[in-house]
Amino acid sequence: MTSRSRSPKTSRKSEAEALGDLRSFLDESPTAHHAVASGIARLLDAGFTWFDAGSDLPSFAGSPVKGFFTRGGALIAFVTSGRANDHYRIIGAHTDSPALFLKTTPEGHAFNFGTLEVEVYGSPLLNSWLDRDLDLAGHVVRRNGSLALFRTAAPIARLPQLAIHLDRAVNENGVVLDKHAHLRPVWSTGSTAVTVRELAAALAEVKPDDVVSVHAQLVDHQPASLLGVDGSLLASGRLDNQLSCWAAINSITKVTNHSGVAVVALFDHEEVGSESTTGAAGPLLEHVLERVALALGKSRAEYLSMLSGSVCLSCDNAHAVHPNYPERHDHKHAPLANAGVALKVNSNQRYATSAESAAVFYAACEAAGVRHQTFQSRNNMPCGSTIGPITATRLGIATVDIGVPQLSMHSAREVCGVSDALDLPRIGRAFLRG
Ligand code: ZN
Repeated sequence: MTSRSRSPKTSRKSEAEALGDLRSFLDESPTAHHAVASGIARLLDAGFTWFDAGSDLPSFAGSPVKGFFTRGGALIAFVTSGRANDHYRIIGAHTDSPALFLKTTPEGHAFNFGTLEVEVYGSPLLNSWLDRDLDLAGHVVRRNGSLALFRTAAPIARLPQLAIHLDRAVNENGVVLDKHAHLRPVWSTGSTAVTVRELAAALAEVKPDDVVSVHAQLVDHQPASLLGVDGSLLASGRLDNQLSCWAAINSITKVTNHSGVAVVALFDHEEVGSESTTGAAGPLLEHVLERVALALGKSRAEYLSMLSGSVCLSCDNAHAVHPNYPERHDHKHAPLANAGVALKVNSNQRYATSAESAAVFYAACEAAGVRHQTFQSRNNMPCGSTIGPITATRLGIATVDIGVPQLSMHSAREVCGVSDALDLPRIGRAFLRG
């Protein structure tokens, strides 16, 4: 259905390359900070300039400028146009995923096991973290304030499920986990020889004395993989929402012939409400947009008029119909796997889509030559939310919520359709061109 004018051979090669790059992005991004690093690598490769938020920007008048800013787990990239630059086209997504973060003093000991203390981040499907080989990943902060990322090469921890012999009703009652008592992974036996801080310092290649603080979280060791006898499904941790982050970066690094300022905004902390310095409810994006406008030589009044003509494509995954639970969807508004990216609609503004902003999405799909479908939840079933309504409220710009349909949202390992995943950057590029 896509690439109708391209030869099938060329199309298959570029699809294989894109899928390989998506899998690398997911595997290289165990945490939000790692996702930003994965984005940085791709942007630098594509000739973008990494700007320091603390320094003055040069003048952007004249030839187009490709640049980006980062802060913690957030990244804002932009490409100015050689033309009017009288509006922004923004693709938004979030870098964070529900997870188990380690507490500040995580090491414990019980019944000859070395254990770890965790804090639940966001709303994970807790049972999905049981009996997995878990890595440790995160970042350390040096005395000079700089960060160094780390990840174990091999799994080092496991949350063992209680044996059925000691929990006979588990298949009838379901797994019931006390978030404090039952979420202590084991990571050694006997006396633990190393602390998390020492391990993190060694992995990050920073002298232990130079490490001031540590952020560490558990990560499923298993890399992204293709599934299905036809290879039509993609399974991985963090599809929500690093799939959209990858598509956004892929879109802006390949956008051509655009008339406004193309922008990608990847935020942290969506899973916990977005209210942080690096979340969508913070001022990061609007500060960057205004700085870009000023560097283009625009006045404050011209900047505000740029905002009024701008649109944000807020990308976050949608719920595909689960074949075992079809009653959870409204069948007329129920996205199917591998049947196109979904427009997400909710009149109560859990999604920011309006009829007008939906039209922008439809136009991008048409220009990209891809299908689309719609997600609208049952009236007796609340839906989630996204950064869309927050961005729309903060910036006052038209926003449309869309996303790749997936199963197992917030599981340690999620699954989506390959063709839907590959359609998203096609839509992204067509949207940014507009
Ligand atoms: Zn999400």
